[in-house]
Amino acid sequence: MEIQTKLKILSDAAKYDVSCSSSGSSRKNQTGGIGNGHLAGICHSWSDDGRCISLLKILLTNYCVYDCAYCVNRVTNDVPRAAFTPEEVAELTINFYRRNYIEGLFLSSAIYKSPDYTMELLLKAVKKLREEYRFNGYIHLKGIPGADFRLIAEAGKFVDRMSVNIELPSQQGLKLLAPQKSKESIVKPMNFIYSQIIQKNDEKKRFKKVPLFVPAGQTTQLIIGATPDRDLNILKLSENLYRRFSLKRVYYSAYVPVASNPNLPSITTKPPLIREHRLYQADWLLRFYGFTANELLDEQKPDFDIELDPKSDWAIRNLGMFPVEVNRADYEMLLRVPGIGVRSALKIVAARRTHPLSYESLKKIGVVLKRAKHFITCQGKFYGEVGLNDKLIRQCLVLKKQEKPDNASRFEQLSIFSLLPDDPKPEDTLASITGEF
Ligand code: SF4
Repeated sequence: MEIQTKLKILSDAAKYDVSCSSSGSSRKNQTGGIGNGHLAGICHSWSDDGRCISLLKILLTNYCVYDCAYCVNRVTNDVPRAAFTPEEVAELTINFYRRNYIEGLFLSSAIYKSPDYTMELLLKAVKKLREEYRFNGYIHLKGIPGADFRLIAEAGKFVDRMSVNIELPSQQGLKLLAPQKSKESIVKPMNFIYSQIIQKNDEKKRFKKVPLFVPAGQTTQLIIGATPDRDLNILKLSENLYRRFSLKRVYYSAYVPVASNPNLPSITTKPPLIREHRLYQADWLLRFYGFTANELLDEQKPDFDIELDPKSDWAIRNLGMFPVEVNRADYEMLLRVPGIGVRSALKIVAARRTHPLSYESLKKIGVVLKRAKHFITCQGKFYGEVGLNDKLIRQCLVLKKQEKPDNASRFEQLSIFSLLPDDPKPEDTLASITGEF
């Protein structure tokens, strides 16, 4: 098979894995324009120091001996199959790198013959790149559940980041949809990678030269909407993963139906993009805003509000804690105010050391006043038009999103679909990346 055909098949098969950040979009070049957008092949990721880097995103192979019902590569699915050799992966990466198309490689794989055999091939490819081609760019490698730890330990020396995908958020889901996988086979390699990172960090303090091991940490991916798992369970799982294994990121991937199966949502179900977006927002609240999963959701309310971001939703349900005076509230409380992000909270704390802040100055600092005004006072004055009324505040925050800017849209024919929230907009996606909301 020609290398170009393999690349087409194996870059397309890799697009369902979002554990390296973005998936692609498809766009044809127009007259006078420059460049095409392809669904798969090159994707963007964020390095540890915040740089956006482009990666060649491919599978080593999509031949799989497993039969996970939700996956396009399952053994019983009739799709074109291909497999790169480790040499081909190394050559492709170097050629793309030399042409300046990419800055790194994201290499994943289906389970080819056995977990050990697959991990051996992956290891061979990254070792070749580092040792023979002396490639110094970024490499994100998939850790294969069930593979021998010695292979994972060896591979970890050559790559920047590793991810072992959990995919399904509960054991019941695994049993039902991926019976060849078990919770242990996924959690054990994560635990092993974590313990190796800790060990190397410890050795670094004592010895001058210590070989690197996965310096950019590990990540994982959870599929949202393939199983009936509630947002509360998913968020608790993420919280646990961050705490137990110090994961760099948990990525959430809205389930894209690829099969008719009585245990899966129907093939016509739309991927739950808003739900995925809400989980990303909540994930930022866990990592940077001091929230816990149990504060954001509970057994009475196990799923996020599709119309409201999780922070506004939490604030409305805890109105007794508001309004807070921006000139006096501590940093932790400022972070809990809707419309105040990490950067604006830091700026508020710094600026008020020299002078009391006015309402107007909050806008310059970057506070989103249309949200924050319902939850703060500034120099003792409250600016929210509807008081501390939970239903009215909710209405204001939801309505603000649905307001249309021009006159014409005010006379738009009402349709049942206009009541549904929009798909995430570019600024929402940015908020998922920067966590400022
Ligand atoms: S093991 Fe991975 S590639 Fe194979 S069917 Fe399951 S999810 Fe798909």
